[in-house]
Amino acid sequence: MTCKATIRMICEYLEGRLSPPVAAAMRAHLEGCTDCRLVLEAAQRTLEVYFDGEQPMSHARVA
Ligand SMILES: [Zn+2]
Repeated sequence: MTCKATIRMICEYLEGRLSPPVAAAMRAHLEGCTDCRLVLEAAQRTLEVYFDGEQPMSHARVA
C-alpha cells in the first residue's frame, strides 16, 4: 500500500466503508508511516466535528 493510496482511502476507512482486507492493509501501513498517521488524525478530527460526536468511537462527548 502506498501513501497515495492510503490517503485517498482515508475517508472510506474512517467511515468503515473499506472491505476488511483493505482496511487491514491500511492499518498496517499507518502503523509504519507517520506521515499518513498525521493525515488520518487530521481527517478524524474533521469527521468528528462534522458528525458532532455521533460516532461510536468518539468518547469526547461533553453533553
Ligand atoms: Zn504513508
